[in-house]
Amino acid sequence: MRPSHESRISRAACLASQNPASVPLLNFYSELARFQQPIFAEFNLKGGTDPRGLVCYFSALMKLVSRTGTELLADFAADHLQTAKSQLDLLVAAWEGKEALEPAARFYARVLLQPYAEYIASRGDIHTSGAGPSCPFCNARPVAGVLRGEGDGGKRWLLCSLCSTEWQYRRVLCPGCGEENKDKLPIFTASEFPAARVDACDTCKTYLKSIDLTKDGHAIPIVDEIATVALNIWAEEHDYVKLETNLLGM
Ligand SMILES: [Zn+2]
Ligand SMILES: [Zn+2]
Repeated sequence: MRPSHESRISRAACLASQNPASVPLLNFYSELARFQQPIFAEFNLKGGTDPRGLVCYFSALMKLVSRTGTELLADFAADHLQTAKSQLDLLVAAWEGKEALEPAARFYARVLLQPYAEYIASRGDIHTSGAGPSCPFCNARPVAGVLRGEGDGGKRWLLCSLCSTEWQYRRVLCPGCGEENKDKLPIFTASEFPAARVDACDTCKTYLKSIDLTKDGHAIPIVDEIATVALNIWAEEHDYVKLETNLLGM
């Protein structure tokens, strides 16, 4: 069950009040979640499985970015997303996932495709057991891990960066390279984020953060992952590369 956009927005406000340093990021995320909410609702109401239906939202997204986003994102839209064809080409390229997109292109595509992918994924049964390191529904990479207590199997789940599906994944197994040696998979924590940790791999030098729901039952991983960006900076200073960026490209 995916958290509603409403609950993501209120979680972002709650985390912003606790972490002054992450306020700008959380505010921008809230704007994006507010933007995604009616897109998800519209698909939910009317159905539809065609990502071309998302082209009509580009101009509103570009306005949002010019108001509250970075100059880099605004410039990218001004240079590359001025026609319906360029917008559609980007959506299709991102949805098919065949070519690597530059970060600004991925940002626009993901903001729009995420509610669409969440809607499509929410309609059917997805076989999440026995899944590998990529999403069993849309094949995107995970953006975070989620830890649950013994009552829920005491397992780690991975959270899809696109459709927000969660699937079980062994705790001691690197989703980047398959390393299983515990000594090569260090875990780092910081006292200011008691419910988050960095799961790193010394073999492929990637990391993902996990959100531990046994330590904070109110956490919403997609939002808490953004609020703990200080851990990204720490991990990257220690030469680890994030396995997959979040919606904000971090
Ligand atoms: Zn997915
Ligand atoms: Zn690895």
